[in-house]
Amino acid sequence: MRTAIMAANWKMHKTAAEAVAFAEAFLPLVAEAADVEIVVAAPFTALDRLGRALDGSAVALAAQNVNAEPQGAFTGEVAPGMLVELGCRYGIVGHSERRSLYGESDATVASKALALLAAGIRPILCVGETLEERESGRTLEVIGGSLAASLAGVPGERADELVIAYEPVWAIGTGKTATPQMAQEVHGFIRSQLAERFGDSAESMRIQYGGSVKPDNVAEIMAQPDIDGALVGGASLDPDNFSKIARFAQQES
Ligand code: PEP
Repeated sequence: MRTAIMAANWKMHKTAAEAVAFAEAFLPLVAEAADVEIVVAAPFTALDRLGRALDGSAVALAAQNVNAEPQGAFTGEVAPGMLVELGCRYGIVGHSERRSLYGESDATVASKALALLAAGIRPILCVGETLEERESGRTLEVIGGSLAASLAGVPGERADELVIAYEPVWAIGTGKTATPQMAQEVHGFIRSQLAERFGDSAESMRIQYGGSVKPDNVAEIMAQPDIDGALVGGASLDPDNFSKIARFAQQES
């Protein structure tokens, strides 16, 4: 049985004070949550205070990005060890906004995933196709290629520490959601690729869906056999909305 994992991706939203206010409102709403892992990926500037606010709760702290190097002359960057010190348990790598706006390649994503694993932080590794790729019938080819290259070097014995997030680029922040059947087709494909790469570990690896997940569509998405959670952008900014998403997962798992 895979424990559902519901992750908030706040992107460039919320100051440290706003993040603490979110935690104060959100934690009571998920106090009874069981059989679900809840993760909040906040901006770097909010991680310290948010981590303190979440301390003692079951909600895990996450970063949205990381540099693959342990330290050095990389102005503006943040190393894995710095995230460990703040209590991050997860780190998002390869979000489509990082890939498209900041030119991150699959090779960069792989090096970041490996750096997180080396530091003891679990990567949430994102892959997804553009609308043009989907409409030209290349979705599985694109996902398969990106997944394989982004997993380069990941040792089999660490595979189950990874979470894969399938996020169709055309569904992120657009209000358009893949139908549950469309999402399941890709999730099933991803699991088959993981099985080829990691063998039996693929059965315990969690694959999240991301792309305009909301309280009113999470149920049908989570009902799919290979969907083990959600990566949630816009709807995670509001404690009430995100708690409804998280509590649904608890009921379904
Ligand atoms: C995301 O940022 O990963 C995401 C899926 O955003 P949204 O839920 O707003 O589509």
